[in-house]
Amino acid sequence: MASVGVFALQGDVREHLATLTALGAEAFPVRRPDELARCDALVLPGGESTTMVKLARTFELLDPLRDRVRSGMPTFGTCAGMILLADRILDGAVGQETIGGLDVTVRRNAFGRQVDSFEADLALKGLDAPVHAVFIRAPWVEEAGAGVDVLAEAAGHPVAVRQGHLMATSFHPEVADDGRIHRLFLDLVQG
Ligand code: GLN
Repeated sequence: MASVGVFALQGDVREHLATLTALGAEAFPVRRPDELARCDALVLPGGESTTMVKLARTFELLDPLRDRVRSGMPTFGTCAGMILLADRILDGAVGQETIGGLDVTVRRNAFGRQVDSFEADLALKGLDAPVHAVFIRAPWVEEAGAGVDVLAEAAGHPVAVRQGHLMATSFHPEVADDGRIHRLFLDLVQG
């Protein structure tokens, strides 16, 4: 059974823990470097990416996170988590840092201020039936490197991507009562 940590300094941690546990993973919150060290894989949840990265630095998790992600730990970022995984961000806060690893440029709050949230049924590569995708002040992928596989699009932009051991969605599969995307991630973890 894979040990899957969920970054838990900020964000919608509980929903990810519940979904992963329901799928049979040993899921636990990660707030400290020793907890990160126990992870076979990690989820970076939705939340507020600027706050998450500041807290990660304060709690001495940012550099260990960068090391683990770069050295191949399977990692799945949702919404703010996608921003944290991105190598480049547009419309970030001044000097906003990321963990990085995913060769994409992500635009924060890309779907606009007026319509902060919406839901859509999207076809997703690897799944037979569409997923119900919940977008909450979501980013999109503005540009993706050659090694990035686009799994789903909305409004003409990638909103679900995979690059080797990394996966990211602009939307929140953890709130949709549908474990299929987490299952894809766990399949990736198990190789
Ligand atoms: N807009 C948020 C950010 O920039 C992400 C929103 C979310 O995770 N639902 O971090």
